[in-house]
Amino acid sequence: MQLDELYRQVIMDHYQHPRNQGELEDGALSVDLRNPSCGDEITLQMVVQDDVVTDVRFKGSGCSISMASASMMSEAIQGKTVEEAIVLAEKFRAMMRGESVDTEELGDLEALQGVSKFPARIKCATLAWQALERASRNVDASNHSS
Ligand code: ZN
Repeated sequence: MQLDELYRQVIMDHYQHPRNQGELEDGALSVDLRNPSCGDEITLQMVVQDDVVTDVRFKGSGCSISMASASMMSEAIQGKTVEEAIVLAEKFRAMMRGESVDTEELGDLEALQGVSKFPARIKCATLAWQALERASRNVDASNHSS
């Protein structure tokens, strides 16, 4: 119970004070995604240099779960390689499936663990991660074309 309360506070903190909110200059990868079942919308932007995520910004509107997850994700992937970010996305998805994962790397994201018990909200929590995965595929595409 106390852990739930702590998690709720972490989620509300990210929702009320989102990290890395805003927009990047032209040239950043940009992905818009919506979660129609809840009405969440997100625009994720990131800059990748030498395969490292050097900057991340997001903006959007939606429920506390979707916005908190985006805020936490933006913190978690900053400075990681694209591959590491994808590994983290897979780990987050596993947590959402209710699998037990090593939460050490997840940081604040661990607070979203309880969402796995509410299937209707899982899409809210994974929206930002879907955007990340889509943006990462665009990194590959732009590498191949250059
Ligand atoms: Zn939502």
